[in-house]
Amino acid sequence: MKTKIAIVGAGFAGAVLARELAESGNYDIHVFDARNHVAGNCHTKRDEETGVMIHEYGPHIFHTSREDVWDYVNRYGKFGQYVNRVKAVTARGVFSLPINLLTINQFFGKKMTPPEARDFVGSLGDRTITEPKSFEDQALKFLGREFYENFFYGYTKKQWGVEPSELPASILQRLPVRFNYDDNYYASKYQGIPVDGYTAIVEKILDHDDIKVSVGARFTADMKSSYAHTFYSGPMDGYFGFKLGRLQYRSLVFEKFVESGDYQGNPVINYCEESVPYTRISEHKNFTPWEQHDQTVCFREYSKLADENDTPYYPLRLQGDKELLMKYVDLADQEQGLTFIGRLGTYRYLDMHMVIGESLDLAKQLLQTKLEDWPKFSQRPA
Ligand code: UDP
Repeated sequence: MKTKIAIVGAGFAGAVLARELAESGNYDIHVFDARNHVAGNCHTKRDEETGVMIHEYGPHIFHTSREDVWDYVNRYGKFGQYVNRVKAVTARGVFSLPINLLTINQFFGKKMTPPEARDFVGSLGDRTITEPKSFEDQALKFLGREFYENFFYGYTKKQWGVEPSELPASILQRLPVRFNYDDNYYASKYQGIPVDGYTAIVEKILDHDDIKVSVGARFTADMKSSYAHTFYSGPMDGYFGFKLGRLQYRSLVFEKFVESGDYQGNPVINYCEESVPYTRISEHKNFTPWEQHDQTVCFREYSKLADENDTPYYPLRLQGDKELLMKYVDLADQEQGLTFIGRLGTYRYLDMHMVIGESLDLAKQLLQTKLEDWPKFSQRPA
């Protein structure tokens, strides 16, 4: 008899874990998703009007430096060559992002070499900040006020809905600063976009005799008793019926428009000024440069605080959220036969590759551990 396992959420966290457990031959796995599709917020679908592959919940570019993660996703789908190059519209013109030697030289009207630029940017930084605690500290210390105000202040305020001084430095640390002309948005070793979209990959991962998938099926806490163990990748506060209050998330709103030809000449253009209401425009056919389309589909992206009916995207993680989180962690610790996984389950700002890596690592750990000793979290939230 195989051990019955429930996995809630058919995004990468749940799908990869389901597959890895199923491969052992010891488990009978039922994956539930409240939405009517798999792949969570990575869901892709061809646009009916134009045939362009759409990232329904906003641009998802796959990148990782973990070879096992890259090999894993490539086993389930072909990845087209893609390097993310972002442009930023600022009050002083259009520049290359992440900040690199071209950005620095053009923004300040100079012709510096890498060492000159390094010294110059070093001289812009605020030396009075020794230990940067906030996003703002981090920007002022390493880049100085002009870069901060033109590239980061407005965008970040729109994206997160709070002053950057209230946000952790770790958000800015996601972006590299380069003293050469490399304008690759990511510093990862591998990067690409799946030729048939992310949903096709997740469907393939879930395609196993010992995995049953139910979409449009909401899992409720009372269903847990039918399974030896449940993995939950939905919001942790949601599992507990929000009984202690709600963890805050940012949600996104997309304004779709169709044009002919080439609308903006790049997949993603950020709008850094506070006065422009959206954060960025993405033109999805540019994510698959190997495809030809006469028409083009674009999305203006707006950020808002998620209310009860919105899709949660980014965990806000303000001080109050972290305190509430710890109370939910205490509740989770008292549960038996339940593990929280993924971005929503652990309330962390995770990219796809991180979630996949964590599910691969967790599966390895589970397969070597007695069911009674399985952990409460893929990674303990902090
Ligand atoms: N950011 C910014 N200006 C930009 C791009 C990014 O201020 O033009 C800030 C913003 O706060 C964002 C953070 O840097 O949340 C990290 O950017 P990243 O592109 O990693 O965010 P993602 O969209 O991938 O979540």
